[in-house]
Amino acid sequence: MARRHRVTLRQRVVLDALRRGDRFRSAQQLHTDLRLTSTIGIGLTSVYRILHRLADQQLVETQHAEDGELLYRIRDSCGHHHYLMCRICGRAEQFTLDAVEQHADLIASQHRYRDVSHRLDLYGICPRCATEPEITAQCRTDANR
Ligand SMILES: [Zn+2]
Ligand SMILES: [Zn+2]
Repeated sequence: MARRHRVTLRQRVVLDALRRGDRFRSAQQLHTDLRLTSTIGIGLTSVYRILHRLADQQLVETQHAEDGELLYRIRDSCGHHHYLMCRICGRAEQFTLDAVEQHADLIASQHRYRDVSHRLDLYGICPRCATEPEITAQCRTDANR
């Protein structure tokens, strides 16, 4: 019980599943992926718990889907940024907008608020999904040959 920061086998299995893709996925999608690819049975509740833990440890980043569901992806950068995210496949492009940051600061200071945060997420359909609208969430058709 004392070794709290040790990555357990199940955590590693979930991390490996996340590393196989660069898209944001829901716990449910990951659970489905794990059932297909892993010999270790991990229940959906455990997947949620493990993702929560990995997010706490900053190994995983989270993002809300358009309908508010929490999605997960392996963390590949830190700092403040926004996402343009595909509502079909979960692909996401990171961006920053200096004008938005400055404007947010201005509004906060005008109203004398402190410690202000903001979220700005854009959702759309990525070019690949625009040409393949029926693509499935766990599609692994990226074999480049
Ligand atoms: Zn897409
Ligand atoms: Zn911002």
